[in-house]
Amino acid sequence: MPMSEDEHLGTEANGTLSKDYCVYCYRDGAFTEPEITIDEMAKRCGAIMSQLYDIPVKNAERFAREQISCLKRWAGKEVAFCGSCGMPLLRDEDAGTEADRTRSTAYCTYCYQNGRFTEPDLTREQAIGKYAPMMAKNLDIPLEKAQEMVRQYLSTLPRWQE
Ligand SMILES: [Zn+2]
Repeated sequence: MPMSEDEHLGTEANGTLSKDYCVYCYRDGAFTEPEITIDEMAKRCGAIMSQLYDIPVKNAERFAREQISCLKRWAGKEVAFCGSCGMPLLRDEDAGTEADRTRSTAYCTYCYQNGRFTEPDLTREQAIGKYAPMMAKNLDIPLEKAQEMVRQYLSTLPRWQE
């Protein structure tokens, strides 16, 4: 879940706030449910998403599983996400490039090349217009619901922070 407020952050054993996990998953330096599997977690996240956005449960679970499989707990390593479109940067070639041709750690290859956004003038509304139809098709949900979902998701990404 997006951890925009300190109160959403989990806590380490010494009482400091966790950088990696939310308060529902992680308290006092341990997972609240250490035994939960990725399938159970996908079911749970899928159920919430299904309710929020009218997604058929099976599709919501599939989507949730894809999403959480890239998270640190399940991927077993830190996976960066594109700060523009949210795509996980799993492989080297997924990453965009800086002006000096090094790999970007912040943006994907579709959004960012040679130190610049590939669509520098793209607004958040235009981005929603671009991604929502794909989301609607992928999850088999009405376009309006997909727009709502994409709007919420983009608001958690660095490029679209106001
Ligand atoms: Zn991207």
